[in-house]
Parts: sequence; C-alpha cells; structure tokens
Amino acid sequence: MKKSSAGAPSKPTKPAWVLPYKTQDLRTLYTIGQKLGQGQFGTTFLCTDKATGHNYACKSIPKRKLFCKEDYDDVWREIQIMHHLSEHPNVVRIRGTYEDPVFVHLVMELCEGGELFDRIVQRGHYSEREAAKLIKTIVGVVEGCHSLGVMHRDLKPENFLFDTTAEDAALKATDFGLSVFYKPGETFSDVVGSPYYVAPEVLCKHYGPEADVWSAGVILYILLSGVPPFWAETETGIFRQILQGKLDFESEPWPCISETAKELLRKMLDRNPKKRLTAHEVLCKFFFFFFG
Ligand code: ADP
Repeated sequence: MKKSSAGAPSKPTKPAWVLPYKTQDLRTLYTIGQKLGQGQFGTTFLCTDKATGHNYACKSIPKRKLFCKEDYDDVWREIQIMHHLSEHPNVVRIRGTYEDPVFVHLVMELCEGGELFDRIVQRGHYSEREAAKLIKTIVGVVEGCHSLGVMHRDLKPENFLFDTTAEDAALKATDFGLSVFYKPGETFSDVVGSPYYVAPEVLCKHYGPEADVWSAGVILYILLSGVPPFWAETETGIFRQILQGKLDFESEPWPCISETAKELLRKMLDRNPKKRLTAHEVLCKFFFFFFG
C-alpha cells in the first residue's frame, strides 16, 4: 500500500472521470440490447443507434472495478490505442466513448460471428490452407500495430472476433486492454498476457514487440493441431515448457503438415527474440505459404 508523506497509509487516489472530456449520455443516443459477452473488466452489449438504426457492440466497464488512478489510465489508454488503430481493416473499429458516474462505455463495430476460439473448438483444427489465411490476417494485425508503435500483449484466439457468422467472415482483433505504446528499442518488464501465449522473454521480464510474434506463432500451432504447443496441468508447468521452448512435431497431425508450416513455426517460436522473425518478415518471407 502507498504511504503518505506523514507515514500514515493513504487512501488510494481515484479520479472521478476516466475521459478527459464530458460526453453525452449513452442512453440518449443508443438503445441497449442483449448481453454479447463478459470480459475481465467489462460486459459487452448489443446497442442500436437511435438515429440510424445501425447495430454496434458496447463494452461497459463499471468504474467500481477500477481501483486506482493507474486503472483509470489503463482504460483511457485502451481507448486511445483503439482510435490509433481504427483505420486497420482487421481491428475492431471504435465508434465512440461515453462516460457517466457509474460506467465507461466503448461503442464499437459489432462482430456477430463470435470468437476464433469457439470456431477452433468446434472444428478441432484447421487445414493448412485455412490456417494460412487466418494467420496471415493475425500477423497483418501485428504488423499494423507495430508499425504504429503499439504492442498488443494479449494475442490469443479469444481476442479475435469474426464480423459475421459466414464461413469466410473477416477476422478482427479486439481487447487492447493490455496494449501499450512503445518506442523503438524500448523494453518492458511487467509480466502480462495469458499463460499459453506468453513469450519466454516476457516471463524473464525483459521484452519488446517480438513477444506478439511469439503469441501469433502459438495461435498458428493451435490452428494447425488444435492443441497448444506448450502445455501442462499447472501454470508453473506451462511456463516451464515455454522457457524450454521444445516444439512437438511428432504427434498427430504433424507428420501430415508441410515442412514450410513447421519452418514458419520454428521461426515465429524462436526462443531468442532477436532471431525471431518480425511480423513484416513473416509476411514477406512466407508469402508463398499464405497463397500456396
Ligand atoms: P475484457 O477486456 O473485459 O476481457 P473483451 O473486450 O474481451 O472484454 O470482451 C468480452 C467479450 O465480449 C468478448 O470475448 C466477446 O465475446 C464480446 N465482445 C467484445 N467485443 C465485441 C464486439 N465488438 N462485437 C461482438 N462481441 C464482442
């Protein structure tokens, strides 16, 4: 707990507002509909623009879940990053932000096709051709983020949504709640992300944007085989596997998967972030994989 200068414990300081500007009331502009999903911080609802009748998704974050100024800053940063990336065709587009005394609301493009995670569970795993198409989009998002100085830090199939229920729907990245702006050469030390997808250098508390390529590599491995490359019963066990970084290409279905796909995985899941391919290199050097 933080101490005041007099030595007595201080109350954690919590600002009144997340946004540095006043907004209209969400409910005067939108009708709120059914619940679409539940995240760690917010609940997402369907909402309809009263003026146009168009549907959107509204993530409402209750301010009682934000305990200190840092939590307020994190939400403001998530909003800024979404605006920063809003031109990217495969990033969920933010439309507006609203705040009242109880909630912060992020109104964004509606993705009705559900999470990539659920589609992988439904199908078991994807064919190489289908996986190549999806991972090209995912690495394209990583390249787009990095070219604008943003590290996502929480890439996983749960954070990619399909815009429609169609088989060939567009895939869109969401949840920039752990994302940060970075400068070239800057390193980070806070351990964030999700167990299966976290890069070894994140666990070693010294990392940069290369960690996103690792997570994308984990997603590709899962798309092709249906199971994570680094697996154990416990979180400590998973982290041990990640630090060892040994890839199993012996079990099913790996003997039937092309050497090109395995080569790409080895290069995205290189334990040494300096040797790992960048998102740009993945797209350039393996372009034949994506169109093969
Ligand atoms: P949190 O940051 O609190 O974890 P998320 O942003 O991951 O919340 O959203 C939680 C869930 O809400 C998602 O997994 C998804 O099911 C649903 N959801 C989020 N954004 C959208 C959207 N734009 N369109 C449709 N559903 C969404």
